Amino acid sequence: MNEECGKCTAKIKQNETVIACSGTCKLQYHIRCVDLSSKDFQTLASLTNVKWFCNNCLLLFDKYMDLKNNIDVIASTVKIEMNKIYTAVKSKQSDLETPRSFAEVAGNTIIIKPKAKQDTKTTRSDITKNSIQQSWNWE
Ligand SMILES: [Zn+2]
Ligand SMILES: [Zn+2]
Repeated sequence: MNEECGKCTAKIKQNETVIACSGTCKLQYHIRCVDLSSKDFQTLASLTNVKWFCNNCLLLFDKYMDLKNNIDVIASTVKIEMNKIYTAVKSKQSDLETPRSFAEVAGNTIIIKPKAKQDTKTTRSDITKNSIQQSWNWE
């Protein structure tokens, strides 16, 4: 074994009992450096579903859990807001799906545009003169 102990940084000797951290550090520790008795170590080693974490990784894990909790709160808030938006969109969707004629949308408005630039007054008088077809583009 060529590794150093994550705590005392001394090279790990072959006859020394070490425990590997299951956290992100992936370091090995003398069991005496992490206050584990041989008996405790044997017990830990015999349990396949139990993982051991060094103090640094435990702290990181706590921070991670805090962060995760915050994210969960944010995520559920976002979900609630998304549902509100979804409901609002759904309620408007029937409006969009119903086919509507141009007349329905625009009401009884007719848009006409003079071929030449002129003021509104002239336009009005032109319309009343009934000479629409020659002077106007219908839209
Ligand atoms: Zn050590
Ligand atoms: Zn660790």
